[in-house]
Amino acid sequence: MSILPAPTYADVADAAERIAGAAHRTPVLTSRTADTLTGANLFFKCENFQRMGAFKFRGAFNAISHFSDTQRQAGVLTYSSGNHAQAIALSARIAGIKATIIMPQDAPAAKMEATRGYGGEVITYDRYTESREEIGAKLAQERGMTLIPPYDHPHVIAGQGTSAKELIEETGPLDYLFVCLGGGGLLAGCALAAAELSPSCTVIGVEPEAGNDAQQSLARGEIVHIEVPRTIADGAASTHVGEYNFPILQRYVDRVVTVSDDQLVQTMKFFAERMKMVVEPTGCLAAAAVLQNIVAVKGKRVGVLVSGGNVDMARYAHFLA
Ligand SMILES: *Cc1c(COP(=O)(O)O)cnc(C)c1O
Repeated sequence: MSILPAPTYADVADAAERIAGAAHRTPVLTSRTADTLTGANLFFKCENFQRMGAFKFRGAFNAISHFSDTQRQAGVLTYSSGNHAQAIALSARIAGIKATIIMPQDAPAAKMEATRGYGGEVITYDRYTESREEIGAKLAQERGMTLIPPYDHPHVIAGQGTSAKELIEETGPLDYLFVCLGGGGLLAGCALAAAELSPSCTVIGVEPEAGNDAQQSLARGEIVHIEVPRTIADGAASTHVGEYNFPILQRYVDRVVTVSDDQLVQTMKFFAERMKMVVEPTGCLAAAAVLQNIVAVKGKRVGVLVSGGNVDMARYAHFLA
């Protein structure tokens, strides 16, 4: 496999052109209640309204758009706990190529169904005992398919960054940008965009309290691996940040803060009650850091990445009850 160079802002700008017409330009919403609560001007970039319900369509579509004819013939392979799977399945269908997706057997039912619904072939594994990276590498070799991992890939990072690019183009310069992270694809891409388009913006990563590997990694100056965290933020339940992602986080991200599951539930309720929108637990991370006053933003212009809205309705009802 060829080694791709680290992504830069130029790759984010290139991705924006490649996904134009395929991805939605998602709305930037404001809320007077949220502004009053925080004393700030908050701009919510709503990727819960992206195609397939999360920002991951951006990175997946961008990555597949780079495939050669040979790669297109064999198809695309990936592993994911959910949204990246749907993103790859949908992007592959649009590109007219085959997609095989390796998913944990305990992935949310709605995400597995949706992945199959987009035409992806699903192979399951036990995420507590088996390594998805090993299964992926083996299948890629056997079938000649191109593996597009969920975050540790330059084209994925560049694609995700188009979200912050659109946000800042719409709002103008920001004082803060809050972005959730699992493996750091969205955060790395958004940090590249913010550094270019709003250089004095402070970029803050937000991860679940139960899995603060990125916070530990930045403190230690090296990628820290943790056990699979038990959190309702299933999209951010990763065990480590990516190798392409980490140097970008070190350079462009001011710090990483954490949010508890209870604070995520409070934020989910806020989005439902006040902004009339369904946001999945992971999608609430960045907003929770601001609304739960984990970082004080009084008097500031603040971008908040709402990353996705895919949640089982039964599970969602349980959270809101
Ligand atoms: C994947 C995902 C994340 C985490 O993204 P990374 O690029 O792995 O950091 C956050 N929110 C949602 C909704 C996701 O699907």
